Amino acid sequence: MSELVVTRFAPSPTGHLHVGGARTALFNWALARQLGGRFLVRIEDTDQARSSADAVGGILEDLAWLGLDWDDGPDLETANATLGGDERGIGPFYQSERKAGYDAVIASLIERDLAYPAFESPEELDGLRREARAAKQNFRYRRAREFDRETALQRARDGEPHVVRFRMPEEEIAVEDRILGQIAFGEDQLDDFVIRKRDGFPTYHLAVVVDDEAMGVTHVLRGQEHLGNTPRHVALQRALGYREPVYAHLPVIFNPDGSKMSKRDKDKAGRLAVREALTLDEAGTRARLDGELDPAILDGWIADKKAQLSGTDLASIERLLGLELPGIDVEDFRHAGYLPEVLVNFLALLGWSPGQKDAEGKDVERFTPGELAKQFSLERVGKGNAKFDRAKLLAFSQETLGGQDDAEFQADWETWCERYAPEALGHLQGSARARFAAAMKPRSRTLAEPTSADGPGAFALVGDDTYGFDPKAVGKFLDKGEPSGRQLLPELRQVLAGLEPFEPEAIEAAVGAVAEAHCLGMGKVAQPLRVALTGRAASPALGDTLAILGRESVLRRIDRCLAECSTS
Ligand code: GLU
Repeated sequence: MSELVVTRFAPSPTGHLHVGGARTALFNWALARQLGGRFLVRIEDTDQARSSADAVGGILEDLAWLGLDWDDGPDLETANATLGGDERGIGPFYQSERKAGYDAVIASLIERDLAYPAFESPEELDGLRREARAAKQNFRYRRAREFDRETALQRARDGEPHVVRFRMPEEEIAVEDRILGQIAFGEDQLDDFVIRKRDGFPTYHLAVVVDDEAMGVTHVLRGQEHLGNTPRHVALQRALGYREPVYAHLPVIFNPDGSKMSKRDKDKAGRLAVREALTLDEAGTRARLDGELDPAILDGWIADKKAQLSGTDLASIERLLGLELPGIDVEDFRHAGYLPEVLVNFLALLGWSPGQKDAEGKDVERFTPGELAKQFSLERVGKGNAKFDRAKLLAFSQETLGGQDDAEFQADWETWCERYAPEALGHLQGSARARFAAAMKPRSRTLAEPTSADGPGAFALVGDDTYGFDPKAVGKFLDKGEPSGRQLLPELRQVLAGLEPFEPEAIEAAVGAVAEAHCLGMGKVAQPLRVALTGRAASPALGDTLAILGRESVLRRIDRCLAECSTS
């Protein structure tokens, strides 16, 4: 029987799941599905200070939303309490709960003199790093030989603070990468790295190697930024007599401007915009921001280009300054109204392609998650950088939404609204909701656009007396004409008040009859009505616009327009 393929996604729960992490998860999921294997999720929370239960919950929810179901791993509903799907008995899936196992491995390495305690304080190490920099060298800790083993062990037993370092073999280590080929790491690139920190917790390097073995992981797909870690992991595996999984390092993701995409991009764009706003109007900008953001945190963030604000604070800045910051987390794209299958399709192309041509000889770029799971292979993952082309993502989204039938679109849009804009649903009762969704579908590139404050659907999502009248539209369509648009409104009101049924076709016919009676084109009557009802010159088809609002709203709005837009 061939070996069970096991892939894994191993996030460190220090923040939201960003699109780079989601791409890694996706490729691991797709490979496991393609090969009939298992996909597991492991929470790498050995950095106790930076890990949080909220981050775990968010990451699991994002994975589930993307449709990346895991066979082994933490339970979605009770992220931090129980474990789910662990049929192979390989849990727990939180590294913080696996400490005893790491301690045993570290003890065995020390016992075999393959690891040793080291006592330099962080300050001493900084000094050594500075010296190396001054000598224009890279600092490599290679001092195992200078220790007297027994003395060192005794000092450790006596409770002196120390780390444990792995004794790196003095030889070149070659890594076989399924995407990049063979990569050799010379001795001068390798060091005696730390496997247990001063706080007693294992480092990522040790924990990842122990867990990949214990969990039967056969394939490690991860970003190229981890490539330099791999010889360390391979050396540990060899020292411990473990299997060496297949390694595949995924292409780096770049922004279209050529910069490396980073989870800090949103902060970077936000910082630039805030600085600009402060330069233009210091007092005004401060007044707007200080109400919601702690001024000390804000100033620290403005000054430090590495600092990151919480998602909530960034969202406040976006809202208060009317900005649109580039999405980076899966949640950003969900909020922006992308369907999970669209995001999955787009993320898959960040390094992979199905390698098929369509009838016109163009690369096939659109596929469902199911098709991806059927076709995925490491052979078709590229070595080169991947480009995060937001325009392409938007185009995919528009194409997908446009291809949905009205009911599908409505269901997806309502699901989005329940999470992000529940008040919008409150404005659309009964049949108005389906009409609204159908009218918005051809005008929407994302599920967020129907509720956008300046979008074509905005008229239906405000109270009858809260929308404003665009003075230009009023001037053009209400003031002008013989009779003027305004003069036509009372008659239209009367016709509409008694119209049965109050449905798009009947409405259009009734308005058309008024136009004919005055020997006017339809537009000359429809436009004043549209301006009265929506405040603007553009809205969905007239019959739809009125039917979405419903008779009562229509009459109230005409009355309000007649009262408020009196001849200037
Ligand atoms: N916890 C690591 C990270 O989030 C996982 C790296 C790996 O896949 O080995 O980057």
